[in-house]
Amino acid sequence: MVEPVFQRVALIGIGLIGSSIARAAQEFPGLAGEIVANARSQNSLDRVTELGFADRCEIDPAKAVAGADCVILCSPVGTYAELAERIAPALKPGAVLTDVGSTKQSVIRDVGPFVPQDVHFVPAHPIAGTEFSGPDSGFATLFQGRWCLLTPPPGTDEAAISGLRKFWELMGAQTATMDAAHHDRMIAIVSHLPHLIAFTICGTADDLADETRQEVLQYAASGFRDFTRIAASDPVMWRDIFLNNREALLEMLGRFTEDAQAMARAVRWGDTNYIEDKINRSRKIRQSLIELKQA
Ligand code: NAP
Repeated sequence: MVEPVFQRVALIGIGLIGSSIARAAQEFPGLAGEIVANARSQNSLDRVTELGFADRCEIDPAKAVAGADCVILCSPVGTYAELAERIAPALKPGAVLTDVGSTKQSVIRDVGPFVPQDVHFVPAHPIAGTEFSGPDSGFATLFQGRWCLLTPPPGTDEAAISGLRKFWELMGAQTATMDAAHHDRMIAIVSHLPHLIAFTICGTADDLADETRQEVLQYAASGFRDFTRIAASDPVMWRDIFLNNREALLEMLGRFTEDAQAMARAVRWGDTNYIEDKINRSRKIRQSLIELKQA
């Protein structure tokens, strides 16, 4: 019998990410001795009970975290401040408090002030996901071969960091540690801006005249189809991400807008070299992703 990294893990939010962690804990030995699930609605917890991937469900987040060795916030980042305030008094001394939120400076801002002295706060972000949500959408292998980025504030207990690293590595993820501000700028370009563009392009298509809109759906080429997949993501989760990574996202959007204008100019004036050069650089990025097995 392998000694688990954490005896009891409480998952606050049990949608795509939370239920994938719970399923992984069932499938891969050594992760957790017991999984406690919490969600906002009883409906979701009833579904978790039917699916059978948690040992216990608790609708009250404070009851869910009591006695847990590791607490993972897996709800939209806009819910973290209120949740942190509710669970803080119930956290076990020595426990690791972490999260999976897609923004990291906001998590340190919102959760940090509530963390008791004797609890280790290690924010984290698995770079893995799909456009689906809810407890049915998770799967045990979601994190295999993906990255999980840890952004512990300076002075965080090393043993807590290495315990959490081990937890993610047992789920098949690679881990890296970085500063929260650096994380937010980097993720703004690789994830948040592409989502903003996808939501915008689908909105533009939807605004077209009735006849044209029908044709967009009927003859959707692969480019547009790929955007619609990204744009099918959960609206609350993405609203919260945009608002909680506002500065980095607006900076990247500004740079993108300048580059899009430059491309528009090249198209207008028939600047073949510029257009070809841009496309060639993009193809190289795709090739590198394939080589790094992140495609
Ligand atoms: P999801 O499938 O929509 O699940 C969200 C879960 O949070 C649900 O169980 C929901 O409960 C619960 N919840 C919402 N408000 C709550 C509250 N006030 N208190 C307790 N639970 C609450 O979302 P997800 O895709 O797993 O995303 C969860 C987190 O992971 C987000 O912070 C997101 O930024 C991050 N993330 C997502 C992805 C991705 O691709 N999806 C990737 C990496 C990181 P109900 O079902 O009862 O509403």
